[in-house]
Amino acid sequence: MRKIAPKEPPFLPYGQQLIEEDDIAAVAQVLRGDWLTTGPAVAAFEQALCGVTEAKHAIACANGTAALHLAALALDLEPGDRVVVPSVTFLATANAVRLAGGEVVFADCEADSGLMEAPQLAEALARAAAAPGRPVKAVVPVHLTGQCADLPALAALAAEHGTTLVDDAAHAIGSRYREAGGSDRPIGDGRLSAMTTFSFHPVKTIAMGEGGAVTTNDDHLARRLQRLRNHGMAREPLEMQNRDLAFDADGSVNPWYYEMAEVGLNYRVTDIQCALGLSQMKKLERFTSQRRRLADRYDRAIAALDPLVRPIARSAASRPAWHIYPLLIDFDAAGISRAQVMKQLSAAGIGSQVHYIPVHLQPYYRQRYGALDLPGAQAYYARTLSLPLFAAMDEEDVDRAVAALSQVLGHTQP
Ligand SMILES: *Cc1c(COP(=O)(O)O)cnc(C)c1O
Repeated sequence: MRKIAPKEPPFLPYGQQLIEEDDIAAVAQVLRGDWLTTGPAVAAFEQALCGVTEAKHAIACANGTAALHLAALALDLEPGDRVVVPSVTFLATANAVRLAGGEVVFADCEADSGLMEAPQLAEALARAAAAPGRPVKAVVPVHLTGQCADLPALAALAAEHGTTLVDDAAHAIGSRYREAGGSDRPIGDGRLSAMTTFSFHPVKTIAMGEGGAVTTNDDHLARRLQRLRNHGMAREPLEMQNRDLAFDADGSVNPWYYEMAEVGLNYRVTDIQCALGLSQMKKLERFTSQRRRLADRYDRAIAALDPLVRPIARSAASRPAWHIYPLLIDFDAAGISRAQVMKQLSAAGIGSQVHYIPVHLQPYYRQRYGALDLPGAQAYYARTLSLPLFAAMDEEDVDRAVAALSQVLGHTQP
């Protein structure tokens, strides 16, 4: 008789894509076709994103960082213009401001949710007003974990201060925010923000390999973003400035002619990536409801570890499509460091990650702006640890992750 070895459960990373046969077939079909870039799959993906977000325009680009950079460039910052960015975010949110010539004003966050809410934005705006410098041109809330902050309150505050609101929704494709009237609207719908940026990196809810997008309802911003994505090149006859070069004697536009009125980049995205993104986007509802089911299971399972372990605070203004599942852990009370917890979890087959090291602590920003005291960000950072969350997981995986955490924290014996 053949002996069957007990099957080791696979290692659970903190996040991972779910690629299925139809995704592979969609990519293969593009590879057999005529267009590898700037073709029909890009347009179809942009249209699908408009469908999901209910925005008027979607501009797909190389990645989420490129999306943030394009949005920052479209703000037309003068050197030294200031932009408020929460400190608890990925580096790219702040870096985009610097790459566009602006200066970052780091905002604090709520200690239990990691979100920049209206009080933290107000504090950052007041701090900026008290310091000499150029005006605050924009504010960039981040929908951390897939939860959104109170977007109507942030938008009202931004408008009151004459600043533009751009939101970083890298975590929040499929999430919904609560309107002032109480109904839900999709993140990225362009009603309260001038531009919303997305990422489709494999750990995010929809995977494109690398990919990003900006949504907007503003026709002018949409044209700018399209142009900036492609070297600043324009082909619209109405926009031509060099009339003598642009037109033939009969007044028709010369077929080879293009014009550049501002400097841009190559941030285009391929049809290969967009075919994958489009195929994945059709599964958004299934992916987000599975993530929601897993998050609910986590909520119930970790209740046994209270008060050592707590869920992050829930925003009342949001119906999140969870991107990550962070916990707040009192490592001091547990008598074990976060590094030890991560190492022991990993040894037990459970991946984990820290989202995020507050960006104001990075040497580059510390050197530029000096030491900042953002107590909410620091309190959030001190306790946060994200456990595995991705659509291919099932509820048993959640139980396995929580059991391992419980054991590592000494709450239960092996
Ligand atoms: C992932 C991420 C980005 C950057 O997206 P990329 O596609 O990796 O360039 C920006 N902001 C936040 C909050 C992110 O999580």
